[in-house]
Amino acid sequence: MTDREAVVTALAAIADPSGGGDIVASGRVSGVVVKADGSAGLVLSVEALARDVAERLNAAVELAVRRVPGVTAARIILTAERDTAPAAADVRTGPVPGIRTIVAIASGKGGVGKSTVAANLAVALARRGLSVGLLDADIYGPSVPTLLGLTGRGKLEGKRLQPAAAHGITALSMGMMTDPTKAIIWRGPMAASAMMQMVEQTDWGVLDTLVIDLPPGTGDIQLTMAQKLKPTGAVIVSTPQDLALIDARRAIAMFGEVKVPVIGLVENMSSFVCPACGVRTDIFGHGGAAAAAEAAGIAFLGGIPLDIAIRTASDAGQPPAAGEGALAEAFAALAEQVAAGLGL
Ligand code: ADP
Repeated sequence: MTDREAVVTALAAIADPSGGGDIVASGRVSGVVVKADGSAGLVLSVEALARDVAERLNAAVELAVRRVPGVTAARIILTAERDTAPAAADVRTGPVPGIRTIVAIASGKGGVGKSTVAANLAVALARRGLSVGLLDADIYGPSVPTLLGLTGRGKLEGKRLQPAAAHGITALSMGMMTDPTKAIIWRGPMAASAMMQMVEQTDWGVLDTLVIDLPPGTGDIQLTMAQKLKPTGAVIVSTPQDLALIDARRAIAMFGEVKVPVIGLVENMSSFVCPACGVRTDIFGHGGAAAAAEAAGIAFLGGIPLDIAIRTASDAGQPPAAGEGALAEAFAALAEQVAAGLGL
């Protein structure tokens, strides 16, 4: 099979969103070429498709073409006779085909609940009807398998990684690929390239957003991610105490330097309400994160309470955002603001 035939075969596996078989049979695809350097080009008609359907189709086509062995790049020209369909320049596919937006979850230091917030935010975004993936790039301390109750190992199909499905999202973690009892020694650049592989060589399908749980701090992985993946936005997680906030400011500054918009700062382990007596105690102080956000000129996205139920549910693989009650509502409120920040 020539490369061109392989591309056409791959495209024939995509159903036409308006019915009538696949997109090759229905005549949406024309002018397929594959040049000697491996770059592929084609014309895709998005005639009579709603804008979001056209965007998704474009992303699916790009993904399918890029996955054909030997193809190194894909150039898709969109056409539509009628002006209801989007102009090619309007179609947002983001730096990774099929993934519309990327949100990076970062913290200045470890142990502030960044992974807990990332996993629950992902679940809460999915509950808004969005298609969401969660990448646990916290390769030094992957906790997403525990948080989502994932027990299986990551699967490879061909050279592509398959994410696991749980609580309405798809997720991939370094913890699904390595032996959890063995220490892994990653040097900075190796860790960064492992993270890029987990984004680019995984069958995420078409996502409204990919939530990336970054390792704490502002090292190689964070910089590579920011520069290569150009996330749509970043969310910074901090506890209210001064020491955590100083580190959070460093993370905010890093995103400023690499020109990634910071959607806002979340205060985790905000006030504690005693389950026995109902008295509220601000164990780590109160209002520090809101003040730090204001001082840094970024939005304050609210607080997630310090609640033993978060710890026990998280350890049991049951993210509170998937349940009902005050905690689920707190994560839903956070998801609403993050979705708005991402333009979803
Ligand atoms: P990080 O990713 O910042 O290292 P984790 O998300 O792994 O932090 O959280 C550290 C520990 O704190 C976990 O045991 C988690 O269950 C617990 N935790 C996180 N947020 C809360 C909270 N709001 N209330 C109670 N426990 C929490």
